[in-house]
Amino acid sequence: MKAKTEAELITLTKQYIEKLTEVERNKYSNLRVLPVKVKFSNRMTRCICQTKESRSCGRAIGIEFTWSNKFLNEFHGNLKLVKAVFYHELAHAIVGADHGHDKVWEATANKLGGFTTRSISLRDYREDKKKG
Ligand SMILES: [Zn+2]
Repeated sequence: MKAKTEAELITLTKQYIEKLTEVERNKYSNLRVLPVKVKFSNRMTRCICQTKESRSCGRAIGIEFTWSNKFLNEFHGNLKLVKAVFYHELAHAIVGADHGHDKVWEATANKLGGFTTRSISLRDYREDKKKG
């Protein structure tokens, strides 16, 4: 099979993220009723993904996951990594933004198989990659 180009890898990664979001949101009753949006940003360069909750009268009325194109380019189609980031963010969406990175959030992220570090920088990622 022919090696994939960078552009193809990015497209595949984005499709994977959209699919994963769709599948997972249907598993959680609190997310099922919300519009869950996925966005890709060129402006976001300091973190891989951000979860934004819109609230009304204390209740979440929408969830938005914004992914950094810069990081996704760097990942070269590493879906395992994308998945770990995704579950970190999904845990925020499930327990609610109020929890931040507390124990409740951490237990959920752990159960889902997400990164439980606060954030992953590009530098950390490059270091880990070198180590293998
Ligand atoms: Zn987080």
